[in-house]
This record gives sequence, C-alpha cells and structure tokens, in this order.
Amino acid sequence: MSAPRVAVVGGGAIGSMAAWQLATRGFAVTVYERYWPGHNEGAGGGGTRMFRRVYAEGPAYGPLLDASWHLWRRLERATDTDLLHRTGGLSIGPAHHPVLAGGIAYAEQRGIPYEVLDADALTARYPQHTPLDGEIALFDPEAGVLRSNLAIRAALDAAVAHGAELRTGTTVHGVAEAPGGGVEVATATGTATATERHDHAVVAGGPWARTLLPTLPLETRAIYHTWHFVEDRQLLRPERFPITLRRSGPDLSYGAMSALDGTRVKLAPHADYPRDVEDVDTMRRHVRADWQHRSAALIRALLPGVSPDPVESQIYPESFTPDGHAAVGALDADARVVVLAGFSGHGFKLAPGFGRAAADLVATGTSALLPPDVALDRDFRAQVSIRDLVLDADPA
Ligand SMILES: Cc1cc2nc3c(=O)[nH]c(=O)nc-3n(C[C@H](O)[C@H](O)[C@H](O)COP(=O)(O)OP(=O)(O)OC[C@H]3O[C@@H](n4cnc5c(N)ncnc54)[C@H](O)[C@@H]3O)c2cc1C
Repeated sequence: MSAPRVAVVGGGAIGSMAAWQLATRGFAVTVYERYWPGHNEGAGGGGTRMFRRVYAEGPAYGPLLDASWHLWRRLERATDTDLLHRTGGLSIGPAHHPVLAGGIAYAEQRGIPYEVLDADALTARYPQHTPLDGEIALFDPEAGVLRSNLAIRAALDAAVAHGAELRTGTTVHGVAEAPGGGVEVATATGTATATERHDHAVVAGGPWARTLLPTLPLETRAIYHTWHFVEDRQLLRPERFPITLRRSGPDLSYGAMSALDGTRVKLAPHADYPRDVEDVDTMRRHVRADWQHRSAALIRALLPGVSPDPVESQIYPESFTPDGHAAVGALDADARVVVLAGFSGHGFKLAPGFGRAAADLVATGTSALLPPDVALDRDFRAQVSIRDLVLDADPA
C-alpha cells in the first residue's frame, strides 16, 4: 500500500518541522511554500530566536518543550548544523513577577535545573546587567539562541532527505474536502494553477493564517527588533551573555540575546506593538524613529557595555490568539485537515515539538504532547470547518 499523502501548507518554522516529522514517519509529504527555505518575510525572520528550558508559561508545556529540546539536537545531528547555541538564560525582575515566580514553579515541578541570583550575585556574575532595587534573577542554564532562518532551512532539508517534495514559489489558494475522501489543494505557481489531491493537509501559514483561516480569532501583530554593537566584546561574547527577559516595569522591559556574530546584541523592547496588521504582504516594515529611541533608552538604563545606538532594525509579523496560546488540532474526525496557528510570540522554541504533534495528529487524530491550552476546540472549533479553508490570497 502506498504511503498516505500529506500536503503541508507553509514551510516556515512550524510547517518545516511538521514536514520533517511526517517524512521521517513515512508519509508522502509535499510542502507548499510561497517563498523559499529560510526566507526572511515570516514570523521566524531576523536570524535568531530564544530557547528557554525553564518555561514560566506553565508545566502543561513540559512534554512539548522536552520533546522540542531533544528534537533540536536531533535536527542538528541529522543536518550537521549548529542550530541551538547554549548561552544560558536570565529572567530579571521582582521575585513576584509571573516570569520569575512562574519560571521557578515550572523548574521545581519539572525537575529542571535553575538558580536564583540576588542583585549582588547577578552583578558579580553578569556585570552587563544593572539590577534595580528589590530585583532578583532566575538563571536557566540550558537556555540559548536558536539560529532561526537556518533552522527552518535545516528542517526542510531533513524532510527532503526523507523523501518530502518541496514546492517553493507556490501559493496555496484553497483546501477543500475531496469527494470520496481526502482533500484537494488548489495552488498557483506564477501564473500556473493546479489542484492536487492528498489524504491530509497540515495548514501552517503563520502570520498569513488569518487569510487561510478567516474564522479563527487571529490577530497579526508587527514586532520589532533593534540590533546594537557591543562595546565590551569580551564581556558580551555569546557565552557570556545569556538570553535575557527583563521585566522591570512598563517602560523597562525587554528581551535581549546575542546576535551570535561576536559584535552585536538584539533587543526586543516589551512594547505595545502595532496590532491588527491587515495584510502581511503590504505591512509597514520600517521601525519608527521613536521606537528606535525607546530601545536606546532601555539600553542606557539597563545594559551598560552595549551601545544604545541601533545599527539595524526590522519588523516581523506574528499571529496572536486572544489568550496567547496557539490553536492546534484536527478539524475533523479523520484529521483530513490539521491546523497549527496563532503561536503568539513564543512558537519558535517549540516548533519541533509542534511538528511532531502535527505528525501525531495526522496519524491518530490526537497527540499527547499538546497542552490543553492550545486545543482548537477551546473557544472556536465550532466556528471553523474544512469549508472555511478557502483562500483568497493573491497569486505569488
Ligand atoms: C520578532 C519576533 C520575535 C520572536 N521571538 C521568539 C523567541 O525568541 N522565541 C520563540 O520561541 N518564539 C519567538 N517568536 C515567535 C516565533 O518566531 C513564531 O511563533 C514562529 O516563527 C511561527 O511560525 P509559523 O510557522 O507559524 O510562521 P512562519 O515561520 O511565518 O511560517 C509561515 C510560512 O507559511 C508560508 N505561507 C503562508 N501562507 C501560504 C500560502 N497560502 N501558501 C504557501 N505558503 C504560505 C509563509 O511563506 C511562511 O514561510 C517571535 C516572533 C517574532 C515575530
């Protein structure tokens, strides 16, 4: 009997991992990607993403995070590529902040190594950070920086090595129930259109998902990063600069990580990012001067040793759900269509685990890796059906 055919719609962070996991299980996978492997237009752009092992979001994410940790290492071995650069991680703020209190509770419950540093210990070990009164730090020794564009490319390479077919420059316009079972996937490659039949479709359109799944309550936001030269290269080399979540109040919160090039760090101010991007293809990608000044002010206040002046800045789109948990599940009992959407700013580290969960869903309709928080039926399954998956996107 021939292997069941699976269409993966979107070869970004999640779709690439789903394709890899499906292909290793023997499914006949076709990935439809409107751009190319590891492109910079989507939610995984900008070169790097944080990986945290101590996960304040809650212990229900434990199995998914553990699976992701192992799969990142497996993907590195399979593709002979350095993808997860271990730097350790710091969360800095008042002890009662959910990122710190939640992180400690998570580590305790899951038996994950961690350390609590008081202000003196933080300054002694990491003088690149300036603690404020009453602040402590939570250290996550297994955290690090993921090479994001490269990782997507590696997962697609691994999928192809297991027999997957990659259709780049191809936009999916619709997924519909096929008469007699399976699905029909309508595509456009340049001006050529086609309809192909598969047994299943895995829809992982990222920030474009609003177009793909118009009845899901998804909102696309524009998140910006600024890059800054380090002034003290020894003190701020990647191994000495743990990824950092700073939670010191409304105007004093950020995420930061090494750019892994030995010269720069990347800053993501915790800000009210522009919401409700109507169209990712025409969204504004220019980082306003006042936003760049916000980055500079944060660095002056909290990160001695880093130059406040941004030397690069970029905006990337991301799809959010109302509660900040992704929306993952099968739309029908036969798992003809599996949806992975709304990763709400924290999907990259978990992408291999979500990829494995997608393969579970296609194979069995369920996955033990998925936390109940991401269930597709928690709020809106009743509002969405396979028939809703008719797209109206422009041809690539
Ligand atoms: C600035 C920023 C910083 C972040 N930082 C972190 C972090 O530090 N750690 C972390 O864990 N997470 C982080 N995230 C979140 C994480 O990057 C995202 O959750 C993740 O990349 C989402 O992956 P995705 O596959 O859903 O989207 P994408 O990676 O954008 O993939 C979607 C893919 O689908 C393709 N596509 C869409 N529509 C179609 C179509 N109709 N036909 C064919 N192809 C299509 C697109 O071209 C794209 O390749 C961050 C996000 C942003 C934006």
